[in-house]
Amino acid sequence: MIVPFLNLKSQYQSIKSEIDEAIQSVFESGIFVSGPAVQNFENEFKRLYEVQECIGVGNGTDALFTILKGLGIGPGHEVITPAFSWISTSETISLTGAQPVFADVDEEFYTVSPQTIESKITNRTKAIVVVHLFGQVAPINDIKDLCQRKNLLLLEDCAQAHLSRENGTLAGKFGTAAAFSFYPTKNLGAYGDAGCVITDDGHLGEKFRRFANHGGLIKDEHLFEGMNSRLDPIQAAVLTIKLKHLETWTEKRTECANFYSAAFQNVNDLKVPSKRQNTHHTFHVYAVRSDHRDALQTFLNGRGIQTLVHYPCALPFEPAYSHFNYKANDFPVAYNLSKTLLSLPVYPELTIEQREYVVEMTKKFFIK
Ligand SMILES: *Cc1c(COP(=O)(O)O)cnc(C)c1O
Repeated sequence: MIVPFLNLKSQYQSIKSEIDEAIQSVFESGIFVSGPAVQNFENEFKRLYEVQECIGVGNGTDALFTILKGLGIGPGHEVITPAFSWISTSETISLTGAQPVFADVDEEFYTVSPQTIESKITNRTKAIVVVHLFGQVAPINDIKDLCQRKNLLLLEDCAQAHLSRENGTLAGKFGTAAAFSFYPTKNLGAYGDAGCVITDDGHLGEKFRRFANHGGLIKDEHLFEGMNSRLDPIQAAVLTIKLKHLETWTEKRTECANFYSAAFQNVNDLKVPSKRQNTHHTFHVYAVRSDHRDALQTFLNGRGIQTLVHYPCALPFEPAYSHFNYKANDFPVAYNLSKTLLSLPVYPELTIEQREYVVEMTKKFFIK
């Protein structure tokens, strides 16, 4: 049996007629930048998240950059961000001219916590970019309290956390603004690059929208220098269709994750992902932990099961940050996670036979 890590082709087949019709209608409209398809998606996303503003942008990285620039983050500022995430989170901070300051992540939940953040705060700290990694909501209310006490901006990277919740509140609604990615493999994925920013602050929302469109809301208006990072109408049309399925797809993911976690009790040193209390973890990634990670990956690969490592190198140790000269024990948890985590296939189209096979083979590796 073959179990691909993800199967976007089978997802497309399941919604083909809706998607084809939506794309066709953009082609026929003759409007290939901005326009009603983009507005339509922004409105639907705003309605789902119950926020004032949704600004479609080119991708999740630009969404983060737009937020930071729109809030005036720049040279002389420090922004605290997790040592364990995708590089967009830290690289966009550097791109503004500010300095990314890494905080280690929590051993249990893989996200930053008030404890890991607090010692990194200096009088130059302006903001904290929290990442709800793998779909797990970080302890966002506690971090929000910390931000209020220290007068810091709270920003959320929701690229992996569509529909994740804490106490019923959607991740992305706790901070000043949140960035979403719709990269094809994300829980809500376009058929190309796409992203958006949400905020409840109308004034900020307008600034973000201008920044992503050369400083203007209309053609030939340039109140300040920005960039060109708009949500493509074809992608917007795809996303509007997919958004309708997101809740069902997310349920299937969590069901699969629960199936794995129940099956992997007491299997050697295999540790299943923990879930923070009172949260809805949406399992963008289902990552198990084992000291035998590399051998397990090779074993599964040999039996047709594709896995991935998120992430083989924690951010502070990437060549891009070699100038900081960090050592493994500066960020021991992030370092250790990069050596022990293995992501198993988890997606709505995974069949019952496939997930049973993943369990069977994983157990076989440890029991052989
Ligand atoms: C995917 C991702 C991004 C960036 O999204 P792109 O759309 O690929 O630019 C940012 N942060 C995290 C945590 C991500 O996983």
